[in-house]
Amino acid sequence: MAQYRKKPVVVEAVQFKEVSRTEFENGTHIEYNSGEISDFLGKIVRLKTTPNGVPEGGKTIEIDTLEGVMTASVGDYIIKGIKGEFYPCKPDIFEATYEPVDEEICFQTCESCGNQFDITIMETDSDGNWFCPECWEELAPVMAQEYRELVAKGEIEED
Ligand SMILES: [Zn+2]
Repeated sequence: MAQYRKKPVVVEAVQFKEVSRTEFENGTHIEYNSGEISDFLGKIVRLKTTPNGVPEGGKTIEIDTLEGVMTASVGDYIIKGIKGEFYPCKPDIFEATYEPVDEEICFQTCESCGNQFDITIMETDSDGNWFCPECWEELAPVMAQEYRELVAKGEIEED
């Protein structure tokens, strides 16, 4: 039977969370990142308090999903799916399914052609010079040849 693996999918997500907590004589004021979530969703979200009156940690927000309105509690992640749809996800499931993507891509200049490339696809020679895959393909056999000649002439020692 043929086997299939799920393609890696990159999604954007924001966790619904507390951002600050201020203690007053008569209670605690908790600030949530509802502004950040509003920006993410492209619409204003309103914090709701769960009807059965949990004094703290009972805040929820409503998310319009493809399956109707769903409720996200503090700690839940709001995911933007590949079609631009939004949906909430419990933190334990989210953390088991997704991992952070390194947003910073490092670029290096290819020593041979002078263009810049993402270092994850580049090769380095023994002197630490960076080469793009295309140049490397051309250069590697040449460098190997030069290396063998120098070894043969006794100019360098073989590693
Ligand atoms: Zn190159």
